[in-house]
Amino acid sequence: MLNFYPGPSKVYPEVRTYLVDAYDEGIMNTPHRGEHFVQLSRSVVSSIKRKLNIPQDYYIFFASSATECWEILIQSLTKHKSYHIYNGSFGEKWFQYAQKIRPAAEGHQFDLNEAMPVSELQISSDTELICFTQNETSNGTQVNANTILNLHNRFRDTLIAVDATSSMAGLNLKLIKADIWFASVQKCFGLPPGLAVMACSPRCIFRAKKIAERDHYNSLVPMYEKMLNYQTTHTPNELNIYLLKRMLEDRPFIKGIDQHLTDRAQDLYTFFEQFSDFKLLVENEEVRSKTVITLQANEKLVEDVKKRALHHNLRLGNGYGPWARNTFRIANFPAIVDEEYEELKRFFLHYYA
Ligand SMILES: *Cc1c(COP(=O)(O)O)cnc(C)c1O
Repeated sequence: MLNFYPGPSKVYPEVRTYLVDAYDEGIMNTPHRGEHFVQLSRSVVSSIKRKLNIPQDYYIFFASSATECWEILIQSLTKHKSYHIYNGSFGEKWFQYAQKIRPAAEGHQFDLNEAMPVSELQISSDTELICFTQNETSNGTQVNANTILNLHNRFRDTLIAVDATSSMAGLNLKLIKADIWFASVQKCFGLPPGLAVMACSPRCIFRAKKIAERDHYNSLVPMYEKMLNYQTTHTPNELNIYLLKRMLEDRPFIKGIDQHLTDRAQDLYTFFEQFSDFKLLVENEEVRSKTVITLQANEKLVEDVKKRALHHNLRLGNGYGPWARNTFRIANFPAIVDEEYEELKRFFLHYYA
């Protein structure tokens, strides 16, 4: 089965070997306070920074999911309120969680075909954290580097947190332009679910210490304190941390991966423009995602395409949220090889051209 689902998505085939190695190396039952784990953790932190182009002075943390990161950041970096800029389901869910924790949290929704409207935002000075989703997996839009730079320049004193779940380890993100970036590993990292990676700037840690919130097992300050010795507050997903280490060691630098995905996204968008029964959900090329391609059609056709594709051993992604029934999604993730997209194209040409 070729899997184009945007999460959990295709894992790197090497994961099979890594799993056997993990078993043989005793990783699955190594004490998480012991030297063996600390060495593993130190080495993976170093690979994450080197391979993903993360500034040396950023701190790396492990959590269990992107959803957990949403919660950690609101709990530990806001006393009063965060501000959420969103155009799709994941950004909106983050906002809704934030409101439950800090009822004063504010949101600004923008249109699918519009760039994030940085100059229109009215963010009051008592806002402690600005939150947005770099790649909105639910509808296939992205916030480009230039827009992030504008946001950073306009709100220099406020911490900025970025959900990069479906782009980190796929795109060469400019981490320096925001304080917090995080992703779970079942998307562009090509690994099984159950682990998230979070990178935080020195300024973020400084603010966290000032707020000094310690009410949760994964409050940021205790996470930071434990991570000074490459440990976690609880028994972490050691197996997935090991898989992450092996995967990163075998992967090229992010710049090369980004170039490959960018070219392939361009190719896929051009390819799908030829069909009259489907259209690209996102019309504005500037905001189209490079890693999640969303196609729109009438509900019956969407149903038909997905079913027929499955019949040919191709798994397409369902639509999500408000686009659940009239769209389907195709992941453009690094673990999926070019030949698989050629197969996908042949399928579409055969049945729908
Ligand atoms: C998949 C996804 C999430 C949720 O990830 P979990 O690991 O299930 O918490 C959050 N944000 C974005 C942008 C996603 O694509």
